Amino acid sequence: MRIDTLIVEITEKRCMLNEEMYSPLKYKIENESPLKQYVFDFVFNIIGIRVGKAGFSSENNQSDIYYGNNPSEDCKIVILEKVTDIIWKQLLEGKISENDISRTVKFDIVNAISNFITDEVNENLSDDDYDTHERLIFNRSFQSRANIANIPIVNQYVNFFRALLESKLSIKGIPLWPQGKKCAIGLSHDVDIPDRYAILKSPLFCKNKDLKWYLLTSLKKAKAITEYIGGKNPDDFWLFEDVMREEKKYGFRSTFFFASINRFDKWGTIYDAAYNIDSPKFIGVFQNIIDRGFEIGLHASYNAYLNEDYLAFQKARLEKIAGVKAVGLRHHHWHIGKDQLRTLKMHEQAGFEYDSSIAFNDHIGFRRNIVLPYHPWDPIKQSMINVFQLPVFCMDGSLFYYSEEKLDTIEKLKYYIGTIKQSRGLGVIDWHIRTSFPKNSEYLNWGKAYVELLEFLSDDSEIWVTNLGEINSWLRKRNMLISQMNV
Ligand SMILES: [Zn+2]
Repeated sequence: MRIDTLIVEITEKRCMLNEEMYSPLKYKIENESPLKQYVFDFVFNIIGIRVGKAGFSSENNQSDIYYGNNPSEDCKIVILEKVTDIIWKQLLEGKISENDISRTVKFDIVNAISNFITDEVNENLSDDDYDTHERLIFNRSFQSRANIANIPIVNQYVNFFRALLESKLSIKGIPLWPQGKKCAIGLSHDVDIPDRYAILKSPLFCKNKDLKWYLLTSLKKAKAITEYIGGKNPDDFWLFEDVMREEKKYGFRSTFFFASINRFDKWGTIYDAAYNIDSPKFIGVFQNIIDRGFEIGLHASYNAYLNEDYLAFQKARLEKIAGVKAVGLRHHHWHIGKDQLRTLKMHEQAGFEYDSSIAFNDHIGFRRNIVLPYHPWDPIKQSMINVFQLPVFCMDGSLFYYSEEKLDTIEKLKYYIGTIKQSRGLGVIDWHIRTSFPKNSEYLNWGKAYVELLEFLSDDSEIWVTNLGEINSWLRKRNMLISQMNV
């Protein structure tokens, strides 16, 4: 099949290759390293092109793009290497564009992207900079200290590079998103407390639990009993039907992350969910979710990150009971440990295709200044981890912990979504199941805000709103297409 006639149907959307997008470019890295190679692979992939490497022998040393400080005469684009470059103020302030560059980019965007995507900017922090759940405290982060948490810096560097390729080399890549879409917003729901009385259906005694566990579990039970006596509706946290109906109104279908083990499991902690998915109520909801084309993913338990077999066990249990393949996950409490890399590697070993667990817990914003899908870097193996990281920019709590005002929330969400659209990126939203529809008194404004958010998203046909599984599937098919381009 000729490359210009290759058409791929992806989730009923079209992604096309044509001759204009294919051009045999060459690039050269002066001081080669696997990490620099990884950054170039990432950038070219987002732009949607495949670029060959120029050799160092005299026959094939011609390159169009050169990264280093000793370029030859014939290179059309040169990026100078400077390991201290991280924030390009001029570009971020809109004071420079591709038209101001004749050939040489004097800011090292390769090094800068590497620093953000690997989170090197937050290396060497102390234990005090993390909360009790080993999550980086926003105020201690590089993003907060440099006042850049609202800026998707990596996107801006990639977009600058894309504009440079288009203007200097007339190169056009395969679009990152389906036809007519400028960005993607992934909708997801963590299923933490879908049943406010689940704790009352639990066993009285559990092996291997300490006094603190018994005490806190008893307090939760006492609270549930009080609510039950007070006549609280047993179903007003069980909002699957309402959420799916609201989303489907606009043609959206989100992801639900379910915990497949609970606090009574041998590894369970006081932070884990109380419900048991192996009960008729859950079997029914799984079928309903599948029938309507929504996605089921794993909400990995609090301590899942400690053991890869245990993580794989949770995946297998969910798949067996729900009758579906769980390709994606999110860790409960964002609990992936301070050594994030170790956990990210476990995802690949356990057979996941995507994870969506990297975010600030206590702040809305861009945790690694990136609103793009990426494969995390493994510095030990010196290669990428083949699991997409889909970055979360907003959790319901990171807005409502600080203000109960619905209006504030909607305005903030609009601002961030506008930024994601402008930077052609991907942002994931995490709204818990009990807070995603205004049906209970505890989370009334949270539910109203989510419903309003859906309406806002539906008004903009240039935003692709869908679940994380569809985004993962689209990206993987797009990658196949890129790999078929000649170099
Ligand atoms: Zn959770």
